Amino acid sequence: MLTDRFARELPELALPWQAEATPQPRLLVLNESLAQELGVDATVGLLTGVDLPPGARPVAQAYAGHQFGGYTPQLGDGRALLLGELPDGRDLHLKGSGRTPFSRGGDGLAATGPMLREYVISEAMHALGIPTTRSLAVVATGRPVQRETAQPGAVLSRVAASHLRVGSFQYARATEDLDLLRRLTDHAIARHYPSAGSALELFDAVVAAQASLVARWMLVGFVHGVMNTDNMTISGETIDYGPCAFMEAYDPATVFSSIDHAGRYAYGNQPVVAEWNLARLAEALLPLFHDNEDEAIRMAMSSLGAYRAQYAAAWTSGMRAKLGLPADVSDEDVIALSNELLPLMHRGKVDHTSFYRDLALSARGDLEPARARFVDLAAFDHWATRWRALGPDADLMDRVNPVYVPRNRLVEAALASATAGDLAPLERLLHAVSRPYTVRTGLEEYAAPGPDEPDYQTFCGT
Ligand code: AMP
Ligand code: MG
Repeated sequence: MLTDRFARELPELALPWQAEATPQPRLLVLNESLAQELGVDATVGLLTGVDLPPGARPVAQAYAGHQFGGYTPQLGDGRALLLGELPDGRDLHLKGSGRTPFSRGGDGLAATGPMLREYVISEAMHALGIPTTRSLAVVATGRPVQRETAQPGAVLSRVAASHLRVGSFQYARATEDLDLLRRLTDHAIARHYPSAGSALELFDAVVAAQASLVARWMLVGFVHGVMNTDNMTISGETIDYGPCAFMEAYDPATVFSSIDHAGRYAYGNQPVVAEWNLARLAEALLPLFHDNEDEAIRMAMSSLGAYRAQYAAAWTSGMRAKLGLPADVSDEDVIALSNELLPLMHRGKVDHTSFYRDLALSARGDLEPARARFVDLAAFDHWATRWRALGPDADLMDRVNPVYVPRNRLVEAALASATAGDLAPLERLLHAVSRPYTVRTGLEEYAAPGPDEPDYQTFCGT
């Protein structure tokens, strides 16, 4: 059931390793539909890595990475293991499975709260239609984990198209082993972009996938929080849900992560950071672009040059749908309307999610719910008159603008209850966010922003 393709094809990046035994494993949450889709017999032994099917060869993966701009040549899985590839080619991976040779000072463990957080938010992202790693299960280990206080420990099992990251390529490049870099490139092409015929075409494909992914984040108000190059996939899936959160009051400067003091990974910076990370990927791939370095750089710059236009196209088409604008409205008009609306939302501290649902009511003739959110009413009225004249389609808006995203206060409350032993609020939250576009009675609380929370902070999942 589990193959060892990554370990076989890229032994230099794969350190054979075993999961730590768990004293008292207890299943907290299982994604039954995903288990079924994968055809996985989700035993606790599998989900903690201690009882694997014959032939499985778990490994800790080596990778490098720029963290907050600073380069670390050897990161690697310090508390994670790749168990192997599933029959459909995706990775099955554990987080919180114990120390590895890459653990450095860390304990290799994970606390229940952060693992459940990854479970909820990744599944919410999937339900929103955004490419992401999936969460299969969270198992409590029975082992306490020392953080600021002692926390119950847990292991998350996740499924991803692969765990190849920009940092994997940086690591391979730094070894100066061109054969390894070539094999890694071939492996990535075969798994994710089989029509790419060269390293440059692989790079083009990753640029396109990331431009589209980050546009999706922006449209839904997702703040990843730690866009280091080791947390950016080659497949174009969102990965590593640490200090991430959904923005409520619209503000490009929104930062949740307690360690992001400079706001490097603020909501509004994400498109530029993705481009910066892609430049690091290009650097790693340079020797495969062309033997002549100047020529290789020229090719890299030209490929990366496509990013901004691709990002803008994805964002503009997403804003067109969010605003319900028909196809005969020009891109320029969509952009102009959006760029006028967003500063008004910023000034009014307008909730990024529920606003667009209320705006659909405006398209149906009920202007007040959307209007009441703004401080500069005259400016909003001026905007809304021009918008309505374009004939917005309210049904289209309701298909693309979610009602339910994981609200910060509800995530925190669900995690606190779960950590204390009561899983009911977490299950209710999962129920809400797993069908984000369908209004359901009884879930009103899940559709509403919290009170102003300018100090809301999230913490890395360590
Ligand atoms: P992250 O920010 O979660 O993507 O992690 C960055 C790096 O730190 C990765 O190499 C992780 O494996 C490592 N790491 C994070 N937490 C721990 C931990 N508790 N023990 C060991 N390594 C860790
Ligand atoms: Mg990571």
